[in-house]
Amino acid sequence: MIADNLKKVKSRIDSVEHDQQVQLIAVSKARSINEIQQAVDAGQMQFGENHLQESLDKIDSLEGKNLIWHFIGPIQSNKTASIAEKFDWVHSIGRYKIAKRLSDQRPPKLSQLNVLLQLNIDREKTKSGFFLEEIEEIIPEIKKLPNISLRGFMCIPNPDNSAESFTKMAELISKYPDLNVLSMGMSADLELAIEKGATFVRVGTDIFGEREYN
Ligand SMILES: *Cc1c(COP(=O)(O)O)cnc(C)c1O
Repeated sequence: MIADNLKKVKSRIDSVEHDQQVQLIAVSKARSINEIQQAVDAGQMQFGENHLQESLDKIDSLEGKNLIWHFIGPIQSNKTASIAEKFDWVHSIGRYKIAKRLSDQRPPKLSQLNVLLQLNIDREKTKSGFFLEEIEEIIPEIKKLPNISLRGFMCIPNPDNSAESFTKMAELISKYPDLNVLSMGMSADLELAIEKGATFVRVGTDIFGEREYN
């Protein structure tokens, strides 16, 4: 079933005309190692997690399979060391302090940690991330950090407003020719996100089924 769902999601991605390369992240939060393994067996290599504690067992159990792990959840500063050690990408940088800690704590034997700045694109009280007007000033500071590599931006728009928000993200990244990663689009709106320029889509429900929690 997971294999069939993956096929369906990939054909939805292919159904949208796009020039950019689009990569699918299977959001495996709240999913078992067995479910992740089924996705791996179907060829899926990239996974997204948003609870650190829950993700560590999974990452350890699946070590050696060359999977790529994306941290996409809220980050408390006392959790940065494990994230810096275990993940390949972090999408949810919403404060300078977090970026600094991840850079300081990235083990020297690993390559730079790929990071995205999260935008609170609809200025929602319940969401974290930078406001658009903060980005220009923060980018040079982030770029100075030696052990992380800034690649682009991520957002979780208000579903009522996603077309407009995705467009704002596309306009933002067009100002930075050296950044080319836009992480946006989930089960419900991945087509729209791709149309607007998404390069990572993060899909949970439509691959693994409904979750017990978010
Ligand atoms: C849970 C989650 C997703 C996946 O959402 P679905 O609607 O299940 O596809 C994507 N991005 C983030 C940041 C999430 O927390």
